[in-house]
Amino acid sequence: SDARLSGVTKAETTCNYCAVGCRFDLYGKDGEVLGVRPADEDATPANDFSTCVKGKFGYDFVNSPNRLKTPLIRDGDEFREATWDEALDRIHEELSRIREENGDDAIAVTSSSKCTNEENFLAQKFARQVLHTKHVDNCARLCHSSTVVGLQQTVGYGAMTNRINEDIGKTDCYLITGSNTTESHPVLATRIKQNVRDGADLFVFDPRKIGLAEHATQYSRTKPGEDIAWLNGMIHHIIENDLHDEEFIEEKTKHFDQLKEKVEPFTPEKVEELTGVSAEELTYAAETIAKADTCIFGWAMGMTQHAHGTRNVLAVANLALVTGNLGKPRAGLSPFRGQNNVQGGGGDMGPAPHTLPGYQDLTDDAILDKFEESWGVRPPDETGLRLPEQYDAMEEGHIKGMFIMGENPVLSEPDIRGAEKAIEKLDFLAVQDIFLTETAEFADVVLPAASAAEKHGTFTNTERRIQRVRPAVSSPGKAKPDLEILADLAGRFGFDWDYDGPADVMAEINDLVPIYGGVTYDRLESTPEGLQWPCEDESDPGTPYLYEEEFNFDDGKARFVPADYAGPVELPDEEYPLMLTSGRVLYHWHTGTMTRRVNVLMDHVPESFVTIHPEMADQLGVTDNEYVRVTSRRGDIVTKANVEETSDPGVVFIPMHFAHGAINELTQHELDPTSYIPEYKVTSVRIQPLGPN
Ligand code: SF4
Repeated sequence: SDARLSGVTKAETTCNYCAVGCRFDLYGKDGEVLGVRPADEDATPANDFSTCVKGKFGYDFVNSPNRLKTPLIRDGDEFREATWDEALDRIHEELSRIREENGDDAIAVTSSSKCTNEENFLAQKFARQVLHTKHVDNCARLCHSSTVVGLQQTVGYGAMTNRINEDIGKTDCYLITGSNTTESHPVLATRIKQNVRDGADLFVFDPRKIGLAEHATQYSRTKPGEDIAWLNGMIHHIIENDLHDEEFIEEKTKHFDQLKEKVEPFTPEKVEELTGVSAEELTYAAETIAKADTCIFGWAMGMTQHAHGTRNVLAVANLALVTGNLGKPRAGLSPFRGQNNVQGGGGDMGPAPHTLPGYQDLTDDAILDKFEESWGVRPPDETGLRLPEQYDAMEEGHIKGMFIMGENPVLSEPDIRGAEKAIEKLDFLAVQDIFLTETAEFADVVLPAASAAEKHGTFTNTERRIQRVRPAVSSPGKAKPDLEILADLAGRFGFDWDYDGPADVMAEINDLVPIYGGVTYDRLESTPEGLQWPCEDESDPGTPYLYEEEFNFDDGKARFVPADYAGPVELPDEEYPLMLTSGRVLYHWHTGTMTRRVNVLMDHVPESFVTIHPEMADQLGVTDNEYVRVTSRRGDIVTKANVEETSDPGVVFIPMHFAHGAINELTQHELDPTSYIPEYKVTSVRIQPLGPN
């Protein structure tokens, strides 16, 4: 009550950075976020009292003077301020004209995992019902699309199978690969470190000696992009030595013989030759994992962002199945999802060109009937273009209009010079965001949106847990929640959405999306720890870990899908002798639109850098902190050298968060054929010193 008296508001909410989904109380006063305090323990299933530096100090961006406060309309090279009516009318006019002249599929919609579930549901509804285009996608395409499809093919649901606290926090053994967990999912990493201190085994396989490696039972340095070899090698060694879970395989899986045959060539010697991981390390890890009662297999974009990303995920899933580590507590497949709401908004809500909300088949007539009955419009029943393909279609002039909600493709697409050219070819671009991002600079109309600190809604964290988001402050100027903007826009096109807030949108989700059938706002109010999907009706308590009874297939059995070997697309050569890989740092987030506006975070890491092994730095004549030019076949950037031994001398690293020295000037547009994820993780480059500063 003291807080209320002094005009301070407290919101019990969910972090808007990573998908660990930490809960805390966010305090605000007079439109300004004041800070974050730990929440009541019942309401913090993932984090107890902890938060990382981003959760604790990273909300200052909300107060930034650079927030968009009014709609903007392009006027030559500049923007001018506009009213909401003017801006929305303009979008309606331009998109309608493009549709009339070129058909529905000349327009694409990009949705955002930063936004709430309700907003993402409406973004895909705006695409499918209002604009009737099949081209709707979101940033999940660029981070874990290969996880989603790899897990759908093997176990059924494209999601983490287990819980953070009770399972990841209490398992007997970990295999962590392609995840710099301490930097990217700090609170989750703390759980792992605590459990390792209490005796759990931890195996880290990674090209870089990341923070977690310091705590590992064994760290094994891998070569970027060569993961299928060592994963298949582990499976081979386990089967060869009769360490596989025969009963589990017999009762719960199919196609084991196919797997057995496929992994046959991957002897420890062969793996050593392909990956540099010694036979001794490989067999020790394989045997410990196989003998452990429970094991968690954790990964992130080091596994997924490859032109063979789906096969990497299949290989991990095969290993978990061979060792029987599914359908029981303290075990499971744990993709560490990136953004706050990428599981829900990017996946479950279906803003994707190949699936309706809840991963429902968009060619199934009964499902299409259900949506048509609710919306009065039948959703397009063909797969649209995936995000990177949309940029090709823009370049070729097939897509002419684009509506982007909360995404920054001018920094996040691979080969951004190509992406920029594609965007410049559009007849019309509308961007809805909280800042004038690098992408919004290209827009014809910019709409000011509310941040997560200013609205109601839900986020779904990486363990499928749906949690409430609540406002601590009001939005600056005329900015509005994405939900309201989308509803206003739908109205311009003659669709009266008439939602009475996010709870009402969730009621529609309950009706149309079976895995969210029982996730109502009433229940979320009285269930502070949230609900984990599948949660099919009001009496369903939700599903803490998946596949206890059966896998998500008609016959209930998991499938082994053998992973064919593949390496990186681009290998070092004389001209581009170094392998560049990418990742996050603790103090920043994705394209940095929020964290680059927070002084506390910028004080720690103010600019882009390239980490170079001391031996290589010597060879190149580069000293620490000197600016260097990094060049690939796509382009070149200038960035600061950080001379440090984290990888082999031939491997260098650049974080993904910066507009100057942007790594995606260098990356390539090679796509995984199943998930269409780009090969961000391996790029051939050369480095030249630019002399002392
Ligand atoms: Fe937010 Fe993730 Fe940090 Fe938790 S670990 S405070 S969810 S960024």
